[in-house]
Amino acid sequence: MTIAATRIEQVETFLVDLPTIRPHQLSMTTMQGQTLMIVRIGTSDGIVGVGEGTTIGGLAYGPESPEGMKLAIDTYFTPILLQSDPNRIGLTMAAIAKAIQGNNFAKSAVETALLDALGKRTGLAVSELLGGRFHGRLPVAWTLASGDTSRDIAEAEQMLERRRHNIFKLKIGRGDPREDIAHVAAIKQALGGRASVRVDINQAWSETTASACLPMLADAGVDLIEQPIALKNLKGMARLARETSVAIMADEALNGPETAFQIASLAAADVFALKIEQSGGLYAGAKVAAIAEAAGIGLYGGTMLEGAVGTIASAQLFSTIAKLEWGTELFGPLLLTEEILEEPLDYSEFSLGVPTGPGLGIALDEARIARFRRDRAERSVHLVLKTGS
Ligand SMILES: [Mg+2]
Repeated sequence: MTIAATRIEQVETFLVDLPTIRPHQLSMTTMQGQTLMIVRIGTSDGIVGVGEGTTIGGLAYGPESPEGMKLAIDTYFTPILLQSDPNRIGLTMAAIAKAIQGNNFAKSAVETALLDALGKRTGLAVSELLGGRFHGRLPVAWTLASGDTSRDIAEAEQMLERRRHNIFKLKIGRGDPREDIAHVAAIKQALGGRASVRVDINQAWSETTASACLPMLADAGVDLIEQPIALKNLKGMARLARETSVAIMADEALNGPETAFQIASLAAADVFALKIEQSGGLYAGAKVAAIAEAAGIGLYGGTMLEGAVGTIASAQLFSTIAKLEWGTELFGPLLLTEEILEEPLDYSEFSLGVPTGPGLGIALDEARIARFRRDRAERSVHLVLKTGS
C-alpha cells in the first residue's frame, strides 16, 4: 500500500474545562477541575487527527500549563506543521525539536494528533504503528485522594465491589509525615490482601524524612513508593532505593530518554512511571521504556490525569510494552464528571480495554466538547483550578 501525498492544512487548539467528581488532593495542589488542551490537525485528504495536552493544577505540577501549550502550538508549532509531511511523523517531530526546546507536553499532544491521523489514513490502530500490541486490556490503579481516611476506605471498598480497581495509590506528603503514614496504614489494614496499596509523595519529603519514613511505609504494607524526594536529587533517590526494601518509582524526575538514562545509570529508581507527556511524545516514551528494559527497571504506565484522548494515546503505547509489571493508572477520564466521547471507554474487570479502531480508535462527542470549550462556554460559571494551601 502506498500512502498518497498529503499536506497539513489546519491546526486548531482549544481548551476544555471539566469538573472533577470530587476534590483531588496532591502534595502540590487540590484539583477541583481539569483543563484539557485539545489539538486537531486537519490534512488535505480530509482526515482530522486529535491530540491532548493536560497537566495537574495549572503550573503547580510542572513548567507547562494548558494555556501555555495552546500558545506554544498556535505560535511556534503550527508554522512548522503547515510545512510538514503528516505521514513522516519522525521527521516532523525532529523539525519541531530543533526549533522548540522543552515543551514536552505540547509535543506529546501534537505527535498524538499526527499518529491519530496516520492511523485513520492507513486503517491501523496507533498501537500497530508503534510495533503492535501485546495487551488488549491494561490493569488500572485508582488514586484515593479525598484527604479523608474513612472516605478513602469507603471509596476503595466501592471500587473493589464494582471490580473496577484493586490497585490503590495514595497521595501523601502534604502534612505531618506521621499522620500520613497512619492514614496509609489504616487504609492498607482495611483492604488487606484484597488490594495493592501504593503511595505518591510528589517530591514533598526531604531525604532525611524519606529515609526515616520509607521503612514505616514498608511495615504498613505499601508495595510501591513514588517520587519521595525532589526530582533533582537523583543521588538521594539512589541512596533511598538502595536502603529501602520496597520498590522506589521515579515520576517527576523522568523527563524523556536523557533523564531516563541518567536515572538508570545512577540506579536511582526500581520502577519508571512512564508518561507520554513527560517523555515528550509516544515515540520518546517508547525510548524511555527501552532504557528501563535494558537496565532491568520495572515499568508502570503513568498519567497526567489526562482526559479520554491523552489516556487512550497512553494506552495505545502501553499496550505495546511486553512487560508492564506494575500496571497503569489510566483512570483520568473516571475522575471527570463529563463523558466527552461518542462511545464511552471500557473500564471493567479492574482494567481498561484498549480501542481497536483506526488511529486512537475514539471519537469526540462534539456537542459535549462545544458545551465545555472555554472560548464558547455556555455556562454562566467558569471553573477555576483552586490551589490548595
Ligand atoms: Mg506521580
